[in-house]
Amino acid sequence: MIPFTQLVLASHNAGKLKELQAMLGDAIRVRSVAEFSDHEPEETGLSFVENAILKARHAARVSGLPALADDSGLAVDHLGGAPGIYSARYADGQGDAANNAKLLEALRDVPDAERGAQFVCALALLRHADDPLPILCEGLWHGRILPAARGEHGFGYDPLFWVPERDCSSAELSPAEKNQLSHRARAMAQLKQRLGL
Ligand code: IMP
Repeated sequence: MIPFTQLVLASHNAGKLKELQAMLGDAIRVRSVAEFSDHEPEETGLSFVENAILKARHAARVSGLPALADDSGLAVDHLGGAPGIYSARYADGQGDAANNAKLLEALRDVPDAERGAQFVCALALLRHADDPLPILCEGLWHGRILPAARGEHGFGYDPLFWVPERDCSSAELSPAEKNQLSHRARAMAQLKQRLGL
């Protein structure tokens, strides 16, 4: 039984809101934090889950509603988990192509067996701003970093991420296939289960 009928999503991204609403169905109305505040909190956490919690806490505080936030990125084993929470701005905000070029350079001459990586998605759901017991879900998608880009779909690091269960890069998957396998899909599936949906 879900203890609420609406929640606020701590994101200004209309696409994310639509995707979440579709996933949750009619039982919960999803609203954007943009309805309540223009301010986006600084992501000062050092882990995905910390950043998800602080974004959800801010959204709960400004809206007075239960709040959900996500934080995601790529963690590369050989780099001690980098770029991690800094995935979007790994190359100092120069965009996806520069991020990918920097990652390839960082892994130059690193053999296949040591190129393991995972996409990570952390979700935090707070029932209210002072909730001491958030619902936390984490989806991991294990793969490997390719020596060169492959594929045209997706975004971010998708062209460099080898998906062992499909023998291709994640940019070579159709959007529908990626949505079944991805870190986000895995975290969302856990959340649905936790909410009894
Ligand atoms: P955000 O949490 O959606 O803002 O994602 C943070 C960053 O992580 C993105 O800008 C990408 O660089 C990377 N990232 C997260 N999810 C994916 C994915 O599914 N494919 C490729 N890159 C991703």
